[in-house]
Amino acid sequence: MIGVHHISPWLLYLTLLMGPVWAIPHDTEHGLPKGGSLLSELTQLENGFQPHRDFQARVQGLSGQIDATHPLYGRLVSLQCWAQPAENTSDYSAAITFASQQLQQARARQDKLAEIALLNCRGWHNQLLGEMTNARRDYDAAFKLAEAAGAQRLMADALSYRGNMQAYQGQLAAGLKDQLVAHDLYERLGLEAWRLHQLGEIANTYRRMEVFDRALEYFKELENAYLQQGDEENLNDIRAQLGILYSDTGRHAEALALFTGAASYFKGKGWSMDEAWALTEVAHSQLKLGRVNEALVHLQQAETLLNRKQETDAATLGQWRLVMGLAEEAHGRLNRALYFLAVAEPIFIQEHNKRFLGTIYRVQARILEKQGEAAAALASLKRYVAIREALERDLGAQRSIQMRFEFDLARKEVENENLKTHQALQAQLLDQVQERRYWQTLVTVLALLLLGSMVLYQLGRSRKMRRLAMTDELTGIHNRRQIQAKAQTMLQQAKSLDQPFSLLLIDIDHFKQINDGWGHQAGDRVLVAVANCISEALRSLDRVGRNGGEEFLVLLPDTLLAEAVEVAERVRQQVAALQVAELPAEYPVRVSIGCAQLREGESLSELIHRADEAMYSAKQGGRNRVCRAD
Ligand code: GH3
Ligand code: MG
Ligand code: MG
Repeated sequence: MIGVHHISPWLLYLTLLMGPVWAIPHDTEHGLPKGGSLLSELTQLENGFQPHRDFQARVQGLSGQIDATHPLYGRLVSLQCWAQPAENTSDYSAAITFASQQLQQARARQDKLAEIALLNCRGWHNQLLGEMTNARRDYDAAFKLAEAAGAQRLMADALSYRGNMQAYQGQLAAGLKDQLVAHDLYERLGLEAWRLHQLGEIANTYRRMEVFDRALEYFKELENAYLQQGDEENLNDIRAQLGILYSDTGRHAEALALFTGAASYFKGKGWSMDEAWALTEVAHSQLKLGRVNEALVHLQQAETLLNRKQETDAATLGQWRLVMGLAEEAHGRLNRALYFLAVAEPIFIQEHNKRFLGTIYRVQARILEKQGEAAAALASLKRYVAIREALERDLGAQRSIQMRFEFDLARKEVENENLKTHQALQAQLLDQVQERRYWQTLVTVLALLLLGSMVLYQLGRSRKMRRLAMTDELTGIHNRRQIQAKAQTMLQQAKSLDQPFSLLLIDIDHFKQINDGWGHQAGDRVLVAVANCISEALRSLDRVGRNGGEEFLVLLPDTLLAEAVEVAERVRQQVAALQVAELPAEYPVRVSIGCAQLREGESLSELIHRADEAMYSAKQGGRNRVCRAD
């Protein structure tokens, strides 16, 4: 996603719906994919990212095929809302009207899911219109309803829009929190295109937090992903954002190259608003490089594009005026500079964009001082300081959260390594039957230690960063993506080495009661305690990850079902013996565990499914027990 505060919401909208085109044959006459059903077409439209025009055409193809009594009607209407034209302010208003009307009808039908989706959609168009307060109200309402309905996809959407909007407005701490949760939800739901999109937004937030290495790392990851997918549009998008990052870090020559590339890409596409944005950025970089005359030429080109449309997008116009102000200042035409800054200001006030407002006041103060207007300069300076302070508060809060988090993680890493090595060696020395594994482990541990020290030495900080992305934030163990990836690898290994492979699915019993009775924080503490307890009960080659809310996935390579059941039983007992400070002693934590061993020709999802069924039997059987899938 493009740096939201720099680029037009119009592009934001486009990129939101962009992505790999579905490679399905199309029967354009009837608008339905050949051999496909209405349901699968709806699902594809919801889950994929298509270029907006394709998206509109396909939604159009479905319209009128079903009426309000059809069970899929709500989903169609939600897509219709997203397919509304969104090129200018009257389009945005029309889309808001459409959403409001449909909302009323959805409420009358008691169609909760459509209601939530339409709230998200109306919120988005409110945002495009610059009506941030209304947008916020819609997103909040959508999130609350989605949470109550347990609709994870819609929760993710609401959090994504709200988080991205907040980050755009400079509320980085609040924004990032929503963005990270949205990212994890998309990941958990397997919506890869949406996950990547959200990762781009997160990278942007880190950039605004001035955590530049992490932003750069994520942009590079995205650049690679889109390069591999051959997704030119998103690739260009990410490179434009890299340009902003370089611009923010004073690497203006590199920024200039990327913005120039983006401008010609947009020109080729005929997207004049985005070309105007890129040209404005080109000019900005040139100003920084002292190339004032070239900058003015590009600003003029941008102006022509901006004027070509009757209504231009506010954010791009505001940005253009701001850079015009800088250019005029560089040219020594101070009154003209002040004029452009003055007309840029209301746009950023309307958009609650503190960062750009800050820049305006700072430059204003500088110019007024040059003009000898001491009192006016001071007034601007005071405004600048007030805004800066507000931003610093947000930044400070966010940074301290992040630092605490990284510190905890680093400490836990060291502790875990020591503990695990020690335990693994002791436990396995005692176990005669597992002698073979002992040697394997020893070799692995030695190799890891050796590798670890080399990697630490060479990569230092960046290694920790990469770990962050693989770790569940709360518990410090593998996150879902990572444990599932590891499961896939282990499964392949087991197949190729012809070894047994088992896994455990562990779910905390009545966890909702813990949350409800002692609060969410107590619930979080329990999750951490259980994660630690499981980790400690495992052998060194075993792996554990948080598979979802209060569910853990344990991988047991080279392990037969009977052994897996033993491990599970040990875990169950050790969890039951846990003392969690936040819980009364008479309320022990319990888990139900399903065990399954890989069968010949079985896929990972089949294996996990059987473990899940076994876990369900454990629940049915009264909880706090282990069940095996035979
Ligand atoms: P059962 O014994 O059948 O598993 O009942 P349960 O209450 O554990 O299961 P249910 O799936 O109904 O509830 C799981 C709850 O876990 C709901 C959700 O709010 C909570 N949860 C999910 N993730 C987190 C988290 O990160 N922190 C906290 N505190 N709660 C979470
Ligand atoms: Mg549970
Ligand atoms: Mg559960």
